[in-house]
Amino acid sequence: MTVENLNQEVIQELKEKVATGCRILAKLGLADYLGHVSARVPGTKYVLIKARGVDLGNLLNMTPERVIMVDLEANHVEGNFRAPAEVKLHTEIFKARPDVMATVHTHQHLATAFGAVGKPILPMLGIMSVVCAKPMPIFQSSLKIVTAEQGAAVARMLGDGLACHLKNHGILMTGKSVEEAVINAIWLEMQAKMTMLASAIGTPSAQTPEEVQLNVEQAEPITGRWKYYVSLLDLPYVAL
Ligand SMILES: [Zn+2]
Repeated sequence: MTVENLNQEVIQELKEKVATGCRILAKLGLADYLGHVSARVPGTKYVLIKARGVDLGNLLNMTPERVIMVDLEANHVEGNFRAPAEVKLHTEIFKARPDVMATVHTHQHLATAFGAVGKPILPMLGIMSVVCAKPMPIFQSSLKIVTAEQGAAVARMLGDGLACHLKNHGILMTGKSVEEAVINAIWLEMQAKMTMLASAIGTPSAQTPEEVQLNVEQAEPITGRWKYYVSLLDLPYVAL
C-alpha cells in the first residue's frame, strides 16, 4: 500500500492516540521531553511516532501534528519534524514482531533502576501484574539505540515477550494497541514501585502465575482504563 492510499481517518485517530499516550506518560512522570510512543499503521509498512524530543520540548504539549510517519526502514515519510534518534528501536521491533501494534520507550526511573541492578520487578498488584508476570530480559548496553543492528539486537532480546530493560537507559514496552502499550508502561512502573516498597519493609510476596492469570481473565476491557488515564490530563497534578 502506498502512502497516498492510506486511510486518513485511521491515521488521524492513531496520531491522536500516540500524542495522548505521550501526554499521559509525561503527566505521570514517566517521560519528560525524551521517550516515545509509536504505532504501526495496521496492514502497512508504516509507523507513526512522536517526533524528536529536542524539536518538541515537554511531552505534556504533544499534539497529533507532532507525530510523524516513517516506514519500517525508519525512512521519513510524512510530517514536519525529524524522527527521534532512537526510531530504529521501534521499527526493528515492528519488523520482528507482527503481533505488536504499538511500542513505548521511556527512561522511567523505577523500572530502569531495577534493570540497572538486575533485580526482577515482581507481579505485586492486581491486573497490573500481567506486565511482569515473566522476568524481563535486560539488554546489556546503556547506549542509545540508533542503528538497525542495535534495534534488531533488542528485538532478539525481547523475543516473544512484552517488555525488556535497556540497562542504565530505560525500558521498551509493547502492546496490541497504543492504549495497551502506554498502560503497560504505567503498570510496569507501579509494579516496580510496589516491589521497591515491599522490599524496603521486608521480603515481598509476589502473586502466583495462577493469580495473575485469574486477574487477566476477570479484567474489564481496556477502554475504561484508558478513559481513566486520559481523565488525569485535566487534573493539575497527579502522582503514580
Ligand atoms: Zn532512550
